[in-house]
Amino acid sequence: AKKVGKNTFRFYSTEMNKKLLRKILLEKKLKQAHTQNELTLHYQPIVDVQTGTTVAAEALLRWHSPELGTVSPEEFIQVAEGNGFINELGLWVLSSAMSFAKQHSDLEVSINASSLQFNNEQLFLEIKRLFRAGELSNNNLCIEITERLLLEETERVKKMLHEIRDLGVDISIDDFGTGYSSLSYLKRCPVNKLKIDKSFITDTPHDNECNTLVRAIIMMSHALGIEVIAEGVETQEQWEFLKAEGCDLAQGYYFSKAIDSEQFNAYLNLNKSV
Ligand code: C2E
Ligand code: CA
Ligand code: CA
Ligand code: CA
Repeated sequence: AKKVGKNTFRFYSTEMNKKLLRKILLEKKLKQAHTQNELTLHYQPIVDVQTGTTVAAEALLRWHSPELGTVSPEEFIQVAEGNGFINELGLWVLSSAMSFAKQHSDLEVSINASSLQFNNEQLFLEIKRLFRAGELSNNNLCIEITERLLLEETERVKKMLHEIRDLGVDISIDDFGTGYSSLSYLKRCPVNKLKIDKSFITDTPHDNECNTLVRAIIMMSHALGIEVIAEGVETQEQWEFLKAEGCDLAQGYYFSKAIDSEQFNAYLNLNKSV
């Protein structure tokens, strides 16, 4: 029994070491990657559910490292959050996304904001600066935040969100329904969009409980004046279901995965001629 215990311990400590080493490696490489332009933004189309027209795009970070291969954003964002690099990276995402938005004045561009980016005023001040500089005049930016940010609901965060919202920037709750299900913040915080998490969409229209949840989220949101985006739409049937339920927008592999800005232009041209 002792021997098993020892081996178990060794197994866990090896696993932990591996994780720790990987974290240290990524931390070291990430900043370097950024200065060497290894980080790029891809854009995933967001369509109007009723017409299928692309009306928006979500900016998603990509990292292709010559040494490490492709590193998933879930992994490196966590590293960036751990050492504070997320602030600098987040500002770069904002400015890159805004130059993309300039080329596509009829599209709204969404960026993901880490809740850590509201611990300081950098992102907030940069959005205000862009607005004053005339870069944000035509309602072309949406900030996707998480339920985690709203959970604590500090006056400071609420004030920042209100000011951003007053500039015409949309504020969307990402991954809705997966985090802390306190619904009361929906009426107290200046949120005007909500993204139903993929996990609720995956089993529609064959799972009645999922259908009911999605239907309820859409009804509740609309009653509160909130626009609804369905994430992770992969099939025609899911799209039909969302159309019938009056969902506003949809995003998912059925329409397109996230693609680089050149491919995005080709995608738009292709969908125009159809
Ligand atoms: P998210 O914001 O929930 O982004 C949606 C994720 O779902 C993306 O994964 C997207 O590629 C994927 N996806 C979209 N449609 C489908 C579909 O139909 N099926 C499936 N299976 N997946 C779909 P990705 O690009 O790997 O990003 C993962 C997460 O990394 C994002 O989740 C977001 O939380 C984070 N992230 C990415 N870029 C940024 C960024 O610039 N800043 C911050 N703070 N986080 C980011
Ligand atoms: Ca998102
Ligand atoms: Ca999401
Ligand atoms: Ca997610």
